[in-house]
Amino acid sequence: MAQTLPHHPCPCGSLHEFANCCEPYLNGTEPAPTPEALMRSRYSAYVQGNSLYLLKTWHPDTRPKHLELDPQVRWLGLKIVKVHRGVHENTGHVHFVARYKIRNGQAYRLEENSRFEKIMTQWFYIDGDFSE
Ligand SMILES: [Zn+2]
Repeated sequence: MAQTLPHHPCPCGSLHEFANCCEPYLNGTEPAPTPEALMRSRYSAYVQGNSLYLLKTWHPDTRPKHLELDPQVRWLGLKIVKVHRGVHENTGHVHFVARYKIRNGQAYRLEENSRFEKIMTQWFYIDGDFSE
């Protein structure tokens, strides 16, 4: 049986079409419905160099004034390790591993447990605990 691969695979690695995955969140058509969906769309925004989306989905309390993305960084992949629901239904955590390279150098691994909070209908990224 042939598996259908997406024509325009989403950068987040979901194996879904970009148009059916992160694109509607990135272009503001609809808000990401869960912390995981927001996490994935933010990863896609990093891949695409969309710093406006990253700022827009950053919690107002922790949002940086400016965000300069390093054009030398090439993102290689995202793996969601675990999604935790928060104590309240408007909070959540996503544990993920992302891999990247600086130009064509060595690959690095970024592992983070990110915190998210929902304000009205929109999920926001607060911050994350790093682990080596
Ligand atoms: Zn996606």
